[in-house]
Amino acid sequence: MIAKGFMTEKDLAEIHKKLETELGRKGAKIDAIYYCPHHPEKGFINEVPGLKIKCDCRKPGIGLLLKTKEEFNINLRKSYLIGDKTSDILAGKKAGCQTILVKTGYGRRDKLFSVKPDFIVNDLLEAVKLIRKEN
Ligand SMILES: [Zn+2]
Repeated sequence: MIAKGFMTEKDLAEIHKKLETELGRKGAKIDAIYYCPHHPEKGFINEVPGLKIKCDCRKPGIGLLLKTKEEFNINLRKSYLIGDKTSDILAGKKAGCQTILVKTGYGRRDKLFSVKPDFIVNDLLEAVKLIRKEN
């Protein structure tokens, strides 16, 4: 979105602030938010040329997962990656996580990568319940 010029980093920061505020009101805390500002495809009217690169932080790259692992000392083999796209599931597999595909959002309809999630659930709440049952 940022590389394509659809929003600025400042716009995204505002969305993240709103997300943290709303979750905070419900008693949930986010330790960190990471995002990839890049995109490899060119040709968008307001695109940001410096961000039109192929990077390792855009899924299915695992750059952000490795960064998170280092900063929070996370065991990725004991972690779950929840996502709605095949690129999410592939990134999770590459990082050694258990993967959960949610049917909301893209619900794997993007079909970009041929990859099988460990679990398929209806939505994020069902994913949370599954993780709690497993552990
Ligand atoms: Zn990136």
